[in-house]
Amino acid sequence: FQTVVLDPDPHSPAGLVSHQHIQTDYLDPIGLQKMAAACQAVTTEFENVPADALAQLATTMQVAPNAHAVAVAQDRRLEKSHFVNCGVPVAPFAVIASDADVEAVLKQAEGTSLMPGILKTARMGYDGKGQVRVRHPQELVHALQQLGGVPSVLEKMLPLKAEYSVIVARGHDGAMVHLPIQHNVHRDGILAMTQVWAGVCDSALEAQAISAAKSIAQELQYTGVLCVEFFVLEDNALVVNEIAPRPHNSGHYSLDACDISQFELQLRCMAGLPLTQPRLHSPAVMLNLLGDIWFGKLGEKSGSDPNFPEVLSLPGTHLHLYGKGEARKGRKMGHLTATASTQEQAHALANQAATILGIAAI
Ligand code: ATP
Ligand code: MG
Repeated sequence: FQTVVLDPDPHSPAGLVSHQHIQTDYLDPIGLQKMAAACQAVTTEFENVPADALAQLATTMQVAPNAHAVAVAQDRRLEKSHFVNCGVPVAPFAVIASDADVEAVLKQAEGTSLMPGILKTARMGYDGKGQVRVRHPQELVHALQQLGGVPSVLEKMLPLKAEYSVIVARGHDGAMVHLPIQHNVHRDGILAMTQVWAGVCDSALEAQAISAAKSIAQELQYTGVLCVEFFVLEDNALVVNEIAPRPHNSGHYSLDACDISQFELQLRCMAGLPLTQPRLHSPAVMLNLLGDIWFGKLGEKSGSDPNFPEVLSLPGTHLHLYGKGEARKGRKMGHLTATASTQEQAHALANQAATILGIAAI
């Protein structure tokens, strides 16, 4: 397939590796026309592409996922009501869109039952951005100000035992397949590591998560790759956190550890090719490489890259750098997947690589 990328960023990493880069705003009508003229199928990789841009393209061509599904994923309010409609449990929450909402939350007994909580902007959040912890009801007004007063959702802070995600792919014909369940570890609200192997999750919970992910995709009439993030609470209850309407960071390991990657699944969905169930051929641990590892211990930026050759000298490491121009703290610059014949070996290998790169042990 030949590919065209529309991205306003002149240094767009995807633009660098595609056949054509249309560098313009997502809603530029001329850019969208050029794209429609050049392409047979369109998808979105970045979650905050305006759903309107997809809706416009969909008037003349195949767009997957559909604009409605993307719009739902872009707004935590719509997203949560979708989960509720699907009968999948969510964290207790309240929508905070006005002063009256704040007062209502503070007045109701609910005001205290949602505390301690996290206030999350309804739109445009990612990697823990657009979130503020709210320990006491008195902090709510200030927290909302910190977020610029935009419509938000107050969520109860839950006692998490673990976090998992499930990636499903759904074809135009409604057929669905999924990647093996992924165990995710976050640091400071950012995905740090994903572990995947048989038995990484209790099998009853795994079945529950896969079935919830499928019904969420089904009810959206979704086409393409969808990631569903879950929390497992201390009492083993499964709660859905959010969805990402695209190949997801927690599925990147599939490039190196599965016989079909999440990216191939996306292509098959777009091209109307058959979907077959991916098979994990090696236990895998994926480490995210944040911009932080380009900085020294004293916080100064080092002039050179981390010691990637040493990491690559370890059998079973797979390095992916995205070609982003500037390393910044907290910015996802790439990832490293460690594959091995056993989960213990994959884990030890990832730890060895982490030590070389200056990432805290996992
Ligand atoms: P991303 O786009 O990177 O997935 P995000 O900015 O959309 O992240 P969330 O997924 O909502 O943010 O939250 C990021 C992380 O913060 C979660 O993976 C989890 O570790 C923690 N977190 C979020 N909500 C809660 C909650 N209600 N209770 C406990 N922990 C939470
Ligand atoms: Mg998340």
